[in-house]
Amino acid sequence: MNFINNIDLTDFKTLLLLYVLVFVIILFRYALLSGSYYLLFRVVFKKKFADRVLAAKMPSSLQIKREIRLSVYSTFVFGLVGVVLIMLWQKSYTKIYIHLYEYPLWYFPISIILFMVLHDTYYYWMHKWMHDFKWLRRYHLDHHKSVNTTVLTSFSFHPVESFFQAIILPILFIIIPLNIFAILIILLVMTFSAIINHAGVEIYPRNSFFKGFKKHVIGATHHDIHHRHAQKNFGLYFTFWDRWMNTEY
Ligand SMILES: [Zn+2]
Ligand SMILES: [Zn+2]
Repeated sequence: MNFINNIDLTDFKTLLLLYVLVFVIILFRYALLSGSYYLLFRVVFKKKFADRVLAAKMPSSLQIKREIRLSVYSTFVFGLVGVVLIMLWQKSYTKIYIHLYEYPLWYFPISIILFMVLHDTYYYWMHKWMHDFKWLRRYHLDHHKSVNTTVLTSFSFHPVESFFQAIILPILFIIIPLNIFAILIILLVMTFSAIINHAGVEIYPRNSFFKGFKKHVIGATHHDIHHRHAQKNFGLYFTFWDRWMNTEY
């Protein structure tokens, strides 16, 4: 038994309240993390990272307004999928588990890596098809209107694209057994990776360790190139699909 079973999801008012709560959490997470990231790297340590800025110019107020508006739309979509996920969890359709020891401890980090590899694979192909097929491309264009990306671009998608992005989450939670804390870590990594990749500033150091790290893990420079050369660099977390499919810039 877990706390999720105590929520009466057959009651419309409870369901609506849950949706509002999930919506507020998603939006608050976005505002707090992207805002703090901007403050840290573009205000507090502005001088230190001055030569690491990728964006050719400051975004216009029009771009900022569009990114915020689209991010709110994304929140509506992700919130809806979040509620569906909670319903699936309550009905035991997902493999989410509460107690850490239900699976061997070594499985905990493996489950996170497995999730990220599958998520990355789904994202790579979904993203590539959004560029390859005209009927999908028109939805993805909203994200690409931001060429000089900002932390706010990280959640700025057309609602149709948000749906394609969000729908994989419940599917993966049905397939992969994940501890509730592993899910929290995954959600944090997802948010931070999107912010890091869109912030318009390369934060990874230039030393040899990070040179190797950046060969496999996507950072701001890698994704910034995608916003400038749309047929290259489609990956989400890792570069292996781009390297295998010869789409790396
Ligand atoms: Zn992007
Ligand atoms: Zn794209």
